[in-house]
Order: sequence, then structure tokens, then C-alpha cells
Amino acid sequence: MTVHDLVGVGIGPFNLGLAALSAPVPEVDGLFLDEHEEFSWHPGMLIEGTTLQVPFLADLVTMADPTSPYSYLAYLKATGRLYPFYIREDFHPLRAEYDAYCRWVAERVPGLRWGRRVERVEHDGDVYRVSARDMRTGEVEVHLGRRLVLGVGTAPWLPEPLRDLPGPAWHAAEYLPHKEELQTLGHVTVVGSGQSAAEVYLDLLTDADRLGYRVDWVTRSPRFFPMEVTKLTLEMTSPEYARYHHGLPMARRDALAREQRHLYKGISGDLVDAVYDTLYRTGRRGEVPTALLTGVDVSGAEWDAGRREYSLRLHHAESDRTGTRTTRALVLATGYRARVPEFLEPVRDRIRWDARGRYDVALDHSVDVAGREVFVQNAEEHTHSLIAPDLGMGAYRNSVILNAICGREVYPVEEHIAYQEFGLAGSEILSSVGAAR
Ligand SMILES: Cc1cc2nc3c(=O)[nH]c(=O)nc-3n(C[C@H](O)[C@H](O)[C@H](O)COP(=O)(O)OP(=O)(O)OC[C@H]3O[C@@H](n4cnc5c(N)ncnc54)[C@H](O)[C@@H]3O)c2cc1C
Repeated sequence: MTVHDLVGVGIGPFNLGLAALSAPVPEVDGLFLDEHEEFSWHPGMLIEGTTLQVPFLADLVTMADPTSPYSYLAYLKATGRLYPFYIREDFHPLRAEYDAYCRWVAERVPGLRWGRRVERVEHDGDVYRVSARDMRTGEVEVHLGRRLVLGVGTAPWLPEPLRDLPGPAWHAAEYLPHKEELQTLGHVTVVGSGQSAAEVYLDLLTDADRLGYRVDWVTRSPRFFPMEVTKLTLEMTSPEYARYHHGLPMARRDALAREQRHLYKGISGDLVDAVYDTLYRTGRRGEVPTALLTGVDVSGAEWDAGRREYSLRLHHAESDRTGTRTTRALVLATGYRARVPEFLEPVRDRIRWDARGRYDVALDHSVDVAGREVFVQNAEEHTHSLIAPDLGMGAYRNSVILNAICGREVYPVEEHIAYQEFGLAGSEILSSVGAAR
């Protein structure tokens, strides 16, 4: 059986980027498996007109290799969209365009196997045995790899009281397939505080008047706060900030994650204003069929099948008051969480874990006890902070992973990109808080 140099599990943007960057590397034979039949980027949220939150340079390859044939500019040239993009003068591609770009790359990059769900990983001698089920035939295939790169992404997350609700309640990840139905139910409530919540709310608000339904927005956050995207803050999405953050004690990192929520879990300022402008325009014709509630936690949702409505239990933190509201449908834009896939169970002993049962991720994104055998993509926010989910840092991480796998510099990796120094980097240290791990 062929022993691949690496087997990538999951082909989202990050492992697709790894496949594109490893394709021209002679010593790397990579195989990538995904349970979906084809590349598909958050189809439930490809709302018309929405854009990426990062510039087009955050494509799969450019930050590692600007000459790569798999770049966004190469895609625009090949599809005759380069001049319109040039004239549009907006660095942020439409989300639907980014999805189309990734599909274009996926059609050209070698080593991708679609419709394969990885169900079990074992270790045998010096190779990983990856068992994947062919989603069409149901048959199980076994693939061998010296290394694994886990790019399974994050999973939609629901707070406990809002899980397994009967009736029309969906996570935002499933919004678009249910949009038409939602618009017929008379009253929808969007729950959540981030970009997705705002996008779904605005998309529903735009038609509320015309189609005659009500849409409310409830968020636990004290206000609809904008994501902080000022340039010096953006420098925190950098190799040196990841290094600094990685070097902190775990408890300090976890506290920082809570403090830094507004850096990447807020709403883009333009979108907040677009929501207001839509409220203002709709208000010209009379009362806007909506309510916006901040600082409110939804602590429960009881479905009344007879009346076909939910009774929401609400708690307003600042006034410490509780109350109820009814609605006929729910869109739960409550975020996504990294997860440890069950298929890793047979090789748990080869993986390093932190005191909270999470991957203990090394700076080079490896998580295995031997070092440099198993790598993770977008599962290291708790160690590397902001770079983990950021498309703009995908090519950087893939360069680090490929350099680690090849034991040489396949792609140059910037050590310093920021003008700021994080922690006391560059200073003479008189005392330290001890080892990070
Ligand atoms: C709506 C939305 C918009 C976003 N917009 C931006 C943005 O503009 N800028 C930005 O920087 N970030 C953005 N993000 C964050 C992040 O970049 C994306 O979530 C990105 O898709 C993460 O890529 P990924 O490769 O980690 O995982 P995913 O895209 O989640 O892909 C994971 C893949 O793994 C596969 N998989 C999982 N388990 C298995 C298995 N057992 N066997 C086989 N295959 C498996 C899945 O089928 C899936 O295809 C956005 C996130 C969301 C939800």
C-alpha cells in the first residue's frame, strides 16, 4: 500500500491551502480526505452580497508564495474577472466568489478525495492507518500516512438550554436552506452577538416589511459592538503575537481569550451601520416590525406545538430581571467551537493534551508526543490566539507545517511582521513567570 508523506483530514480552506502549497514540493506526497462530495464553504451563510472579512491576499497561497498558480488573482485572470475586480477597487471578495475560487483550486490540485468520512485513525509501526468510509458505497478504505494534518474545522455550537429544540429552530450554519420557510412563519428571533447574527438579522429585516413578518434580535452582549480592526490591533494576527501568546501560562491565555472577544467575535462596523440604515429606511413607512435587545441571555425556549410558538426565558444581566417573550422561529447564531474528533480515540496516547483536555499544541502546530507527526489547523486558538481561525494566516501556518514536515525551509516564514513588540520581546528580562506548559 502507498504510504503518503501526509494524510490531511478535512478539506476546508486550510487543508485545501496545504494541498495547493504541497503540490509543487517534490518530497511531499499528500492525500486529503473530506466527507463532502465537493468543496463547499459555509453554504448556509453564503448570503448574497456578504464579503470576506479579510482582503483577497488571504487566499490559499499568496502569503506563502505570491507566484503560485493557485492564487486568487490567477483565478480571476483564468475566469475573466480580473478587470472587473480591478475596477471594483474593493479588497474584500464576495463570500460566494471565495467559495467559487476554492472550488476552482480544488478542481486543479492533486491528491484530493471527496466523499470520504474519516472514522478511525490507528498507528502501526511508523505510519498512521486512516480508515475512511466512502459516502457513496459505504465501503471503508484504509490510507497510510507518515503524518496527519487535522483540518476538520469547527462545529456549530449551541448553548445547553437551546440544544435539541423541537420546532423551527436552526443554527445560523443552516440559515439559507431554511430562509424561505422562516419568512412564512410570521415572527423570527435571531439569537447571537457576532457577524453571522448581524448578517442573518439584516437579511431577514430587509424583507420583513414587504413579506409581513417580524424579526427580533437578542444578544447577551451589552451592546452591538463592532469588531476592532484598527491596524495596530490587526498586528496581533501575526507570527510574533502567536509566539508571545503561546509562551504565556495556560490560565493567562484562557483569560486573554475572554478579554479579546471583541477582536474577532464582534460585528464589522459597516454591517452595524447597514443594519441601522435599514431600520431607518423601513421606519420611514411606519413602525419597524422588530425589537433589538442587548445584555439579554436566552436561558430557555419552550415549544408549544399547539400554538406553534416558543416561549423564550430571558435574563437581563444588568438589571438582573427575568422575563419571557414569544416567537415562532429561532435562528441561533451562537458560534462555532473547535472539537477533538472521535476518530482520534485509538491514537489518544500519541497526542499531547493540556490540563483541560485540549490539544497541547506546539509552536509549529504539532500535537503529537513524538513531535512533527500530527498537526492541527484552526484548533489552536487556546495556544496561538487570533491566528487560528484567520484565513489570512492559513498560508503562514501551512508554510510552518510543510517546513516542519520537510525539515527544511520550503516556504520562507516571516518571524516578524509587526512594528509592535509583544510582552517584553527585545528587552532585557529581569524576571519571568515560568514555563508556559
Ligand atoms: C460564515 C463564516 C464566515 C467566515 N468568514 C471568514 C472571513 O471572512 N475571514 C476569516 O479569516 N475567517 C472567516 N471565517 C472563519 C474560518 O476561516 C472559517 O471557518 C474556515 O472555513 C475554517 O476553515 P477550516 O479549513 O478550518 O474548516 P472548514 O471550512 O470548517 O472545513 C472543515 C472540513 O472538514 C471536513 N471534515 C470534518 N470532519 C471530517 C471527517 N471525519 N472526515 C472527513 N472530512 C471531515 C468537513 O466536511 C469540512 O469540509 C468564517 C467562518 C464562518 C462560519
